[in-house]
Amino acid sequence: MSAVVNAPWIARQAADLLAQRGHAWLLQGPSGLGQYELALALASAWLCEKPSAQGACGDCPSCHAIAVHTHADLAVLMPETVMLELGWPLSEKAQDEIDKKARKPSKEIRVDAMREAVEFSQRTDARGRGKAVLVFPAERMNTITANALLKTLEEPPGDVRFVLATEASHLLLPTIRSRCLAHTMKWPQDDEALTWLAGQGVPADVAQALLRSAGGRPTDVLRQAEAGLSPDWWADLPKAMRQGDARYLADLSPAQAIDALQKLCHDLLLQQAGAVPRFFNAADLPASAASVRVLTDWFKRLMTSARTAEHPFNAGLMLEALTADAQQTLMSKG
Ligand SMILES: [Zn+2]
Repeated sequence: MSAVVNAPWIARQAADLLAQRGHAWLLQGPSGLGQYELALALASAWLCEKPSAQGACGDCPSCHAIAVHTHADLAVLMPETVMLELGWPLSEKAQDEIDKKARKPSKEIRVDAMREAVEFSQRTDARGRGKAVLVFPAERMNTITANALLKTLEEPPGDVRFVLATEASHLLLPTIRSRCLAHTMKWPQDDEALTWLAGQGVPADVAQALLRSAGGRPTDVLRQAEAGLSPDWWADLPKAMRQGDARYLADLSPAQAIDALQKLCHDLLLQQAGAVPRFFNAADLPASAASVRVLTDWFKRLMTSARTAEHPFNAGLMLEALTADAQQTLMSKG
């Protein structure tokens, strides 16, 4: 079984949830706390042939099938971009369309995929342990897909269980939320997170520095480390923004850039209040004269941008606009 499932804070929550009955769980909380990993741990335990109170055994044919991402009784519903990122196979048809460049991988959970999952939930299970549907990130369902899922949640065929994982539960239909048992993700202790990151091959000094920039969220740290965001890069970000250097953000998606700038803004507000910054070292923050009002307005604009960041009409232009706005704010005289 993957080491991720064994992360201690995930294992604790899995054991807690397995001790309760529920055919549909909604795992919610900010990104980076391991929603996907916990969802997979639950689904694995449901389908495992020799589960314990702690979860799946990690060793039976069912666990092996999940480890290699081909289990006949597990339907995984994700945007295609996320499936590719996490190494789940696309349907033959979808893969074919993407290979032929007929279209790009979808950033939403597609209606086609949802239809297949609904059919899946009506079939008989292949391995005799029931079936599981995993949806992640659940907020990437549009209204049509969400309504298709809702029907199945309302009248679940007997042997299927659902786990939805979300980093933005406020974006889900209230009717979906009300059909699920909600679980709010728990934060790991810093030492647990650091031990786990060491096990994932992140050097200790990098892990320590990135855990700060990721606000204590270990799976965000892992993604940042994998994307090559070094602690040095992070430390120099405020300076680069003050200089209006948009190329500095070139390796980031607009969503990642907005997240980084929100953290910068957050820390400048703390600094204004005489508090210790949370994401940056105080020494790396620019001596900005921007007032609380100017910073608050900037934060609001970043939130507005975040809403369109998934589908920017031009990512490069968006990064340039974000940088220009950051520079103007940091240079503001009051
Ligand atoms: Zn097993």
